[in-house]
Amino acid sequence: MNVDIDWTPEQRVYRERFLAFGREVVQPGGLTRDQTGAFDADLWRAVGESGLLGITTPTEFGGDGKGVLEFAAAMEGFAEGGLDASIVFSVLVQVAMVIEPLLQVGTPAQKARWLPVLASGQRKAAFAVTEPHGGSDVFEARTTLRIGNDDELLLSGSKWSVTDAPYADMAIVLGRVEGLGASGLSMFLVDLAGPTVEREGPFDLMGCRAAPTGALRFTNHPVDPEHGVLGKLGDGVPLTRLAFNMERLLAANVGVGFLQAVLDHAVTNLSRNESFGRPLQSYQYVQGRFVEIRKHLEFHRLLTRRALWLAHTKQRFNLEASLAKLSGAQALHDAALHAVLLLGNRGYRRDLFPFERLCRDAVGLMIAGGSEEVQKMAIWAELHGENRS
Ligand SMILES: Cc1cc2nc3c(=O)[nH]c(=O)nc-3n(C[C@H](O)[C@H](O)[C@H](O)COP(=O)(O)OP(=O)(O)OC[C@H]3O[C@@H](n4cnc5c(N)ncnc54)[C@H](O)[C@@H]3O)c2cc1C
Repeated sequence: MNVDIDWTPEQRVYRERFLAFGREVVQPGGLTRDQTGAFDADLWRAVGESGLLGITTPTEFGGDGKGVLEFAAAMEGFAEGGLDASIVFSVLVQVAMVIEPLLQVGTPAQKARWLPVLASGQRKAAFAVTEPHGGSDVFEARTTLRIGNDDELLLSGSKWSVTDAPYADMAIVLGRVEGLGASGLSMFLVDLAGPTVEREGPFDLMGCRAAPTGALRFTNHPVDPEHGVLGKLGDGVPLTRLAFNMERLLAANVGVGFLQAVLDHAVTNLSRNESFGRPLQSYQYVQGRFVEIRKHLEFHRLLTRRALWLAHTKQRFNLEASLAKLSGAQALHDAALHAVLLLGNRGYRRDLFPFERLCRDAVGLMIAGGSEEVQKMAIWAELHGENRS
């Protein structure tokens, strides 16, 4: 057997670079961003300038031209160093849900227009599928594209709970083409400028508060007739799955970085405490919590690396991505809660440690990109050979 799940030297360089960036640039403002619940445009600019968003974008469009493993290694370090799920969410939306579909099915003109500004962070992207009537049944989208009198394409409808919707410059939007029924479900590349888009938000979230969600309301909003459809008309289902699979894979992957940080911080901080005349770490009940965090980390890393390997080698990874996302969000929540409890009253304080924030953020991971039940439905479908589109 030949098993090596470690990063290559080049991938390790990416990991270390963004671990340092996370520690220096992201971590210091995490508490303030959580308290204000606002998207930090300066931080976003710094992330763009760091090159993180362009790792998978070809060099001709200003990126590094690397693959999913290099990006995953960078994101693992970024999560571990920054300890901020909000900015991680914003980055994942931009790269996994918008840049990746563009890379896979975008036309040369679409790539030329969007990749340079998205990979550099000059433009913020959103991925809008959820609607006010419910997000799990995502293919019941009511947002509709109709052909106007002068052959213009006009989008109408509402999207809801969309990450960074209050600030985004563009969005990939799921909608149906009027008159085509279910077969008309399609993805549109939408410039969000202009009076025909109304925004609501930021919504006051429990966690991931600095990547605020919001609503987008389109009223006969013009979609570029030449370059506004991603893939072909009717590709809405496979393109939604493509984006969700990528998001699930990479959201699971950042869990490894977060879990590593939780473990390291908990060990470092607890080692200073004593109780009943002995170091806390000498008590088996206390050791048990560390074992639980370590167990979550090791299991989750193995599962995620396998999913990443399948993606890297162009094999189907839907099942593994859903499994990793499902278990990773739960693992992160449980590990962060262990860390809170290990540190007692100090762990419960927001101003001292980021663990209570991570507990709340992990709940966002349990919902966004498909709830726990939806992941289970996807896993079941994979096991039974459904969802083969
Ligand atoms: C932090 C955050 C960021 C988000 N970002 C985005 C984004 O960028 N773009 C976007 O489009 N959306 C986004 N969402 C929305 C997210 O995708 C939806 O919240 C999610 O898909 C669930 O949809 P819903 O909230 O409407 O819940 P509902 O679909 O109303 O479901 C409510 C509950 O019922 C369960 N349920 C539903 N149907 C079934 C079933 N058949 N069997 C069993 N249980 C079921 C669900 O699992 C859930 O527990 C985000 C959400 C959060 C929390």
